Amino acid sequence: MKPEATAMVFMGSNTPFSETKIDLPELKDGELLVKTGYATICTSDLHTFYGRRHSCSHSILGHEIIGEIEKIAPGGVLDYHGNPLKTGDKVTWSVYAFDPDSHTSKKGFPQKSEGLYKYGHEQMNQQYKLNGGFASHCHLRKGTSVFKLPPSLSPAEAAPLNCTHATIAGAIRLAGNLHNKNVLINGVGMLGLSACAMAKEHGATKVWSQDINPEKSEQANAFGADKTFTFGKDHIGDSKENNGEIDVIIETSGSPEGIEKCIPLLSIGGTIILVGSVFPQRDISINAEYMVRNLLSVKGLHNYIPEDLANAIEFLKEAKFKYPFEKLVGIEFPLKELGKAFETGNKGKYYRVGIKP
Ligand SMILES: [Zn+2]
Repeated sequence: MKPEATAMVFMGSNTPFSETKIDLPELKDGELLVKTGYATICTSDLHTFYGRRHSCSHSILGHEIIGEIEKIAPGGVLDYHGNPLKTGDKVTWSVYAFDPDSHTSKKGFPQKSEGLYKYGHEQMNQQYKLNGGFASHCHLRKGTSVFKLPPSLSPAEAAPLNCTHATIAGAIRLAGNLHNKNVLINGVGMLGLSACAMAKEHGATKVWSQDINPEKSEQANAFGADKTFTFGKDHIGDSKENNGEIDVIIETSGSPEGIEKCIPLLSIGGTIILVGSVFPQRDISINAEYMVRNLLSVKGLHNYIPEDLANAIEFLKEAKFKYPFEKLVGIEFPLKELGKAFETGNKGKYYRVGIKP
């Protein structure tokens, strides 16, 4: 019998996943076959499945993945740090494969390079079918940055590394030196909690967080927030403690109203980094004179760069002992119950739902 993988194929929004057997691929130069160890359902997977944003089908969703190398292309493959990978290595990888020689990569934006291939988002084709997390195997293409996982990280801690934590590591990179600066995290989902902890570990003087949901807002206390605010109830702008001294805002909610309310909170020279706006939404209103006179910056981040994933792994290795990241995966389902797992995830009770192949 030919070796086969099992995948839960995405057939279109609001359509049940289809359990499908797929032949294991022949590997080309620079490629790896990874046996999926664990995956978590990212909020963007939920947006796709429930039709809140467009994605192609048929495809395999899921990009927060870890796994164990089962097969390596002849000629071998190096990890991000230049060390040879072996079968049996437990790994995470960049959410995309990119061409380092492309025009946009050379400008410093590999995550937007021409011909970018993004795991969990691509149409299945003859050559590449196993391209997402909700399957027994994942086929990694040449140009993917692969990292060996520290053995101390549990699967539930490690799976969100290559989306959530790497994205926040990118936001922290864009924010620059956080010493002597106060940071506000707007939106306390998975990204927001990661941002609270990472800002604290990067030396921010104070970390504040706010969310419209008081329970979520409070969660941030366990992840390094010095004070938490509930949007609409005790808005941070009304707080005397704030007094205009917010230097950096990491905006993870993606809410246009939230962004418009955040910008006036920045102090002179402040920066707001937008990471949450990854679904179709209305324009925001910014007063240019206000931005100029207050020396403000707005930066957007999408997909991160491989170095951010390297930094996220280093961060989590230490931070796991201080902050309860493992608990954020509130419930687990076997791969075959992916539909039920999505229903559960969409209710919003858990930060992450785990999938065990
Ligand atoms: Zn994601």
